[in-house]
Amino acid sequence: METTLAIIKPDAVAAGDAGNILAHLEREGFEILAITKLRLGETQARAFYEVHRERPFYDSLVEFMTSGAVMPVALERDNAVKRLREVMGATNPQEAAVGTIRSLYATSIEKNAIHGSDSPENAAIELGFFFSRAELLAAGR
Ligand code: GDP
Repeated sequence: METTLAIIKPDAVAAGDAGNILAHLEREGFEILAITKLRLGETQARAFYEVHRERPFYDSLVEFMTSGAVMPVALERDNAVKRLREVMGATNPQEAAVGTIRSLYATSIEKNAIHGSDSPENAAIELGFFFSRAELLAAGR
């Protein structure tokens, strides 16, 4: 079993798609270990997307991610990191395979409904950004 982090982004939360996205993830075999809802501050969003600080879209991404509530979700299944990336679909919804979360709920390359960790190493770091080890261990398995 592997754990990973998804974040339902402000566009999807505001559109009322969070429940559908969570149901989609459960249908795909993910167990929801922990979930929360919060609004990121600018400092937090900049820190979370630190790896992208040199990219031209960094400031816009930070503005978007702080524009409303997000829902970080700790997920578990076998091969969770890779499977979540597949279920999410490509970054640009126009390139996302039919039936993927981004093909269903994203509206642009930026407002693309969901984040998913891109490696087991980053999943561990990103889970720690939102959830304590005690919380994840207490998730009742
Ligand atoms: P992901 O792993 O599929 O989420 O994609 P990346 O790690 O490359 O980018 C992180 C996030 O930045 C994406 O999910 C988008 O919200 C945003 N993003 C990526 N590429 C672009 C872009 O070309 N323009 C804008 N405005 N945002 C982008």
